[in-house]
Order: sequence, then structure tokens, then C-alpha cells
Amino acid sequence: MNRTRPNNATGRALHDLEQLKYALDQSSIVAITDRHGVIEYANDKFVEISKYSREELVGKTHRVVNSKYHPPEYIEGLWKTILAGKVWRGELRNRAKDGSDYWVDTTITPLLDKAGQPERFIAIRNDITRRKELEQQKDEFMAVASHELKSPLTSAKAYVQLLKQLERQKRSGESVSLLAKVDEQIKKLDKLITELFDVAQIEAGKTHLEMAEFDLRELIESVAEEVQLSANSHRIVKQVDQLPLIQGDRDRIGQVVNNYLTNAIKYSPEASRIIIKAQAKKGRVRVLVQDFGPGIAKEEQRQIFKKYYRSNGGAQKYVKGLGLGLYISSEIIARHRGEVLVKSEPGKGSTFGFWLPAAA
Ligand code: ADP
Repeated sequence: MNRTRPNNATGRALHDLEQLKYALDQSSIVAITDRHGVIEYANDKFVEISKYSREELVGKTHRVVNSKYHPPEYIEGLWKTILAGKVWRGELRNRAKDGSDYWVDTTITPLLDKAGQPERFIAIRNDITRRKELEQQKDEFMAVASHELKSPLTSAKAYVQLLKQLERQKRSGESVSLLAKVDEQIKKLDKLITELFDVAQIEAGKTHLEMAEFDLRELIESVAEEVQLSANSHRIVKQVDQLPLIQGDRDRIGQVVNNYLTNAIKYSPEASRIIIKAQAKKGRVRVLVQDFGPGIAKEEQRQIFKKYYRSNGGAQKYVKGLGLGLYISSEIIARHRGEVLVKSEPGKGSTFGFWLPAAA
């Protein structure tokens, strides 16, 4: 490439563009296609990663490197975006000529004609295969590790229960209370491991739901009772209407109710009351858990359902946690085609809730 800059303006502009292209070719995989996605230009990095020759790429569509990994809706979404003249960004798994797959972080920019219609597309990609491999290893590790941690814990829990029963019969008060403490610690550990396990399953797309029709009101009553048993500090007030049957995984929905209630208790240590409400509305049901704690700032309300998110505000200093409970809850509700919600006013408390469709 000519590195000296010409004197006239047009020459300089062209030269600058050429330099920009040179720099881009060093860093990224670049392809230019026509409006139908037929490749007109493929740079060296594209040739290198796809293991096809330039001649094998030009004149074809990106179907040559399609790995069939993504669901059709994903690719349809991509096309819909760029045909509407908008930039599409996302990660794609492609297949090279030798059958090996590679991952690319992709930005596709449509170039529009005078009528505002896409004329050509420029795809700029970066190889993220290594990062994806590491992520997959991490997901597999999490799944194995949480499973391995959980099984001895389950046995220990059973032994403690047994010992507690035996000790109770002997009426030796002190060891019963010690065992109760051990039991409590095991339960905490169990909860943490279960959360890690659930996240590993979600990441791997392997959350299994046991779908059946069930009575949500009865479920709420029983979860609230169970939570109340281990919460002396708060009274759980139930305002649960008669509800239509729900089609879903009873245990998983129970897990969400449990998560909302335990959070409400954990994060409102100064308060003494929690309200759980459930109502049927237009073919849907809504469950709300209200607390009278410090609440959550507006900016944080959007973040709160994200993985690992823990508030920087006042609430989380009371208790330790992994910041996974709400993430898992929102995934469970989404899998039931429902929606989670949070309303909160700092100083007044928070209300966490979800909508679920009633069984047809
Ligand atoms: P964890 O409780 O393990 O940190 P969660 O995902 O259940 O994880 O909650 C994420 C964060 O949301 C918490 O760390 C806390 O800061 C905030 N939060 C959740 N529930 C409430 C609540 N009822 N009141 C105030 N803050 C809450």
C-alpha cells in the first residue's frame, strides 16, 4: 500500500479510505454482499478462517458457512433487521470447509440506496471461538461441580434429620439445638448449590419443566406456610383470591414464590410484615409479594433480574447472596410464557411479582 499522502482533496480522501480498509482487513473478517446476500467481496481473514478459497466464496451466499446451529428464527431476525435498514449485531457459529465450526462476533451494516432500501451489506466479524470454548467449558464445569457438591450434601442432610429424631427421643435439648444449627447451615449451602445448578442448566438450555395443571392458590398457601415456619421476624399476610388452574411446573413456580418471599424477608430486616397477593385477571393470574423494606432505586430496578446482579444500595449489606435468585426466577417465568415485574419506591418498600397465563 502507498503510505505517502497525496496533495489534492479527493486523492487524500481516497487514500484515507484505503488506509482505513487496510487497518480493518488487519483486524477483522470482512465480507460485502449484494442485497440478496450474495458475496461480492471476501477479505483474506474470511478466506483464512472459512478455509474456502476466495473463488469459492464470491458469488455464493453465507449459506456456505452455515453451521445449522442457530434456530431459523435467529437467522430470520437477522434478515428482518438488515432488510429494515438497521444494523444487526450478534454472535454466529459458522462452519469452515473442513467441517470445523468457528464463532464470530458479527456486525452487519446495510448500505441504503437513494430510496432508502438496502443495496449492499457489509459484514464485519471477529473470531471469538476461543472465548466460546472457554464459556462452554465453564458451563460444563458448573454443571458437574454443582452436581458433585450436591450429592454429599443431600446425604449429610438426611443423616442430620435422622440424628435429630434420635436425639429428640432421648430428649437431649442441647444437641438438638446444635443439630438444628448444622441443619440450617446445610440448608444455606444447599440453596447456594441449587442456584449454581439451576444457572448451569439454564445456560446449557437444559432446564427441564414437568408441566401439569395445578392449583396456584394452594401452592402459594403451602410455600407461604413453609417460609413462615423459618421466619420469626415477619408475619406473612396472605390475600389470595380463588384462581383458575395453571399449566406449569408446580415446583418451579413454587421456587419463584419462595424466592420472592425469602428476599422480601431478607431485605426488610426492620419491617415485620410481608403481603402476598394473587388475583385472576383476563385469562392471566398475577402474584405480588410486597415488603416494607428500604426499596430499590429506579436505575437498579432494570438490573435486578440480571445474572449475578446485587444492589450497591442499602439492602444487600444485610445478607450475602450470589445474585442469582431473581435471574433464575425470571427464567422460570419466561419459560412459562409469563412476565416478572418489580415496583419499588425507595424508603417505602418493594413489590415483586409475576404474571402467568391461565391454563386454556
Ligand atoms: P441474592 O438475594 O442472592 O443477592 P437475588 O437475585 O435474589 O440474589 O437478588 C438480587 C438483588 O436484588 C439482591 O442482592 C438485592 O440487592 C436486591 N433485592 C432482591 N429482592 C429485594 C427486596 N425485596 N428489597 C430490596 N432489594 C431486593
